[in-house]
Amino acid sequence: MDLDFSEEQHRFQESVREFARTRLAPRYAADDRSGTLDRRTREEMAGLGLMGLTIPERYGGQGADALSTGIAAEELSRADFNAAYLLLIPMLAAEVVLSAGTEEQRERILPAIADGSALPCFCLTEPGHGSDAAHLTMRAERDGTGTGTGGDDGTGTGGGGWRLTGEKTSISLGMIADSAIVFARTAPGGARGVSAFHISLDDPSIQRSAFRDLGSRAIGRAAIHFDGLRLPADALIGSEGDGFVKCMQSFELSRAIIGLMCLGLASAALQEAIEYARSREAFGRPIGAQQGVAFPLAEAATMIAGARWVCYEALWRRDQGRPHRVQASMAKWWAPKVAVETAHQALLTLGHSGYSEELPAGQRIRDLIGLEIGDGTAQIMKTLVAREVIGKTARPY
Ligand SMILES: Cc1cc2nc3c(=O)[nH]c(=O)nc-3n(C[C@H](O)[C@H](O)[C@H](O)COP(=O)(O)OP(=O)(O)OC[C@H]3O[C@@H](n4cnc5c(N)ncnc54)[C@H](O)[C@@H]3O)c2cc1C
Repeated sequence: MDLDFSEEQHRFQESVREFARTRLAPRYAADDRSGTLDRRTREEMAGLGLMGLTIPERYGGQGADALSTGIAAEELSRADFNAAYLLLIPMLAAEVVLSAGTEEQRERILPAIADGSALPCFCLTEPGHGSDAAHLTMRAERDGTGTGTGGDDGTGTGGGGWRLTGEKTSISLGMIADSAIVFARTAPGGARGVSAFHISLDDPSIQRSAFRDLGSRAIGRAAIHFDGLRLPADALIGSEGDGFVKCMQSFELSRAIIGLMCLGLASAALQEAIEYARSREAFGRPIGAQQGVAFPLAEAATMIAGARWVCYEALWRRDQGRPHRVQASMAKWWAPKVAVETAHQALLTLGHSGYSEELPAGQRIRDLIGLEIGDGTAQIMKTLVAREVIGKTARPY
């Protein structure tokens, strides 16, 4: 058993940490105030290959393993939690194309994601179906007049396209993305009737509206409305009815990555609180010398260490080709909770200054809460864990 990263992973961690500290950290609060992600963040992350980490090199990506992707997510978030969404969402989209798409689709779609020239969003949630996504109602119906390859001149080759009708909601990056992976129903029933589509969002018939959110304002969420949007036949990724299964497999990666995003930000909050506890004096000594201040910080350090291990175990297992759904589900409910609690405790440690917008303590809490919900709530994650540890196929503990 080796509990350390490889030399190469350590070097990668250092380089991402340095980039994030020097380039991203100064923008974290400013982007929150402006409600937009600084244009340079996308350019610089794309330039470093951080938007196509998991995409194989033959499609223009970095071909990184899951563990290294987790390292990058943690380090980015330490400085700018929202910048890490630019790793997370394109990764999720790319996973679906990689696992379900044809070779032609991979060659067509992935290089632009990898070099940052295309920014995809991931459209699963609907107004009536969030946790219960298997019963989503957006329709993709066969359209005899659709084109095969989707050429701008409408002269596709395959014939028999699709028409997309319905609304997706709560879509991260939805206001600024230029393409989307959309899950839609191609047959009645539950999960097996759901298919995945890759679509361009430049059609003027597509309506988008922004949410006014508590946190992650630089990323934003959108409701996206499709009213009979015509798609070429090859917008369908892979086979009909494949979509939901591929989506869930992608979540086994993203859930551990989200865990590390949250813990990266929590670590930054904890570090700030520790430094303050060392330097701030009250009643003649540093406040950190009081157990009342020190113990909550010690508890937070312990919780972060435990939750971090679960996240990295999930990613390590993925890299080994071993099952990791249970670890990913544990990571997704536990790490965001630990992170929110840590960020709250860190704010309290800073006293009145923590409550001011001069410091990022409050923004951290607002941003973290979003990923207690996004990509699956704690209750749903615990349901998945329970299935694995109590259900019929559970292994003895
Ligand atoms: C910051 C953020 C970013 C997001 N980004 C995206 C995105 O990019 N793409 C996308 O498709 N979606 C995205 N979402 C949507 C997110 O995935 C859903 O909000 C989430 O899956 C929960 O769905 P819901 O909000 O409809 O809640 P509901 O499913 O209505 O649930 C409401 C409450 O009931 C609980 N609940 C529901 N069913 C059960 C059950 N069986 N047992 C116990 N409790 C239950 C839930 O845990 C929750 O607390 C994002 C959400 C947020 C907050």
